[in-house]
Amino acid sequence: MKFAQRIQNIQPSMTLAISAKAQALREQGIDVIGFGAGEPDFATPENIKQAAIEAIQNNETHYTLVSGTHALKDAIIKKFDRDNGLAYDRKQIVVSCGAKHSFYNLAQVLWDAGDEIIIPAPYWVSYPDMVILANATPVIVNTDQSSGFKITAEQLQQAITKKTRALVLNSPSNPTGSAYTKKELEALAEVALKNKLMVISDEIYEKIVFDGFEHVSIASFSEEMKRNTVVINGASKCFAMTGWRIGYLAAETDIAAAVTKLQGQSTSNPTSIAQAACVEALTGKQSPVEIQKMVTEFKKRRDYLMDRYAKIEGVSCYKPIGSFYTFPDFSGVFGKQWNGKTIKESLDVAEFLIEEAKVALVPGIAFGADHNLRLSFATSMENIQEGMDRIESALNTLHA
Ligand SMILES: *Cc1c(COP(=O)(O)O)cnc(C)c1O
Repeated sequence: MKFAQRIQNIQPSMTLAISAKAQALREQGIDVIGFGAGEPDFATPENIKQAAIEAIQNNETHYTLVSGTHALKDAIIKKFDRDNGLAYDRKQIVVSCGAKHSFYNLAQVLWDAGDEIIIPAPYWVSYPDMVILANATPVIVNTDQSSGFKITAEQLQQAITKKTRALVLNSPSNPTGSAYTKKELEALAEVALKNKLMVISDEIYEKIVFDGFEHVSIASFSEEMKRNTVVINGASKCFAMTGWRIGYLAAETDIAAAVTKLQGQSTSNPTSIAQAACVEALTGKQSPVEIQKMVTEFKKRRDYLMDRYAKIEGVSCYKPIGSFYTFPDFSGVFGKQWNGKTIKESLDVAEFLIEEAKVALVPGIAFGADHNLRLSFATSMENIQEGMDRIESALNTLHA
């Protein structure tokens, strides 16, 4: 079969590839501990499920407006006002089939061949490929553990050319768990405005933060910055609703209209039932309680992991401020041997760990960071304890 050039230009999602490998081993009866999860290991809260059941019973089972129901847009508008101090109207909101879909749509309507999109690394796996699918060029700016995996205003300024159209920000971050402070965002916003650079702000982990960290939206600094920013968010992570497929964006009216036009000729509206459930997620009084329960559990796991990492030679780990990922640096074991093989990069570490420790981590190369691996703590404490025991023992068998 001859395939279109655009599909040949992109990579399959590597996070999904590791889950597939773990699954294959499990099917052979091997007990593999999976640290690859990109979703909360909690059930969708009961009040949200009930809202979906009621929507079915009320026959809310037809097409809705392409860009989302009035009820959901109003709930999203309320959320932006309440949580982020941002005022939008219905014409500025588009609901899509997950935040990934929101970003995809946006890339398709905003960018052309020759446009450069700045993406700080480590990045969420899908950004560069979605930029490439829009024929635009991802420009990767590297950050490391010493700067908390954050891009500085100077780095941003240096990466800007005449062709630069946008900066993609993801705070709190998948895969590092890093998050930008208000001050850091203000410095980036200043550079963005000065260079007429749009900011795409993916805030999907905003509620999953620890130690009293306060998430701030870069769009909230001024009217000008709000016009210059597209905020992306969704129900998947904060409400444990990955399978429901609801994401949304808030933008200037002309951008929202263009996204709606594209969506009207592709997927049309996201599932009516999921939209009704999302209204409850965003406005139900149970929701803050459910989020708090989840965050409390995530924090326990993060703290346990940080204690374990501190005791393992050759591994160091940035302490995540948000999300449910750790992103340990394994470069301390590069050059070591197992089974006649030398560990040289993150893929080698991932292979070693799945073969010898029977634990599945995602190699950092998938996120543009080859010293690290992503270990998700969206799994039980029991799994985390056992998995860390296995990792520690396996690393002890490595030799020079
Ligand atoms: C999970 C995730 C998304 C997308 O999630 P959806 O399920 O498509 O809403 C977007 N951005 C980041 C950084 C994510 O980790």
